[in-house]
Amino acid sequence: MTAPSRTELASTWPPTAAVAKAAGHEQMSPLQAIRRKCLDCCCNQPSEIRACESVNCPLWPFRASVHPYTSARMKNGSQEQDFEEGGADNDERAAA
Ligand code: SF4
Repeated sequence: MTAPSRTELASTWPPTAAVAKAAGHEQMSPLQAIRRKCLDCCCNQPSEIRACESVNCPLWPFRASVHPYTSARMKNGSQEQDFEEGGADNDERAAA
């Protein structure tokens, strides 16, 4: 039996676990997949992921492998409030 072609693999929509395995993917969470993509984007340099300033990239909020929009985090608005109250300004002042 021959391996399925890319066209055959891509014809399964949405992709299933079986077709993903046949394409060579290991099972992982969406956050793990995002992290892998960020590593690919940054030539496998984790420090570059942290320093990424491409804030318009859809993956940017997730690049630390932490989901920022969980219901628990959304209910606890202290992090957002801290930033709005001068997190960025405070960082600039601390660096000066
Ligand atoms: S968030 Fe940054 S590192 Fe991750 S894919 Fe986007 S641009 Fe690349």
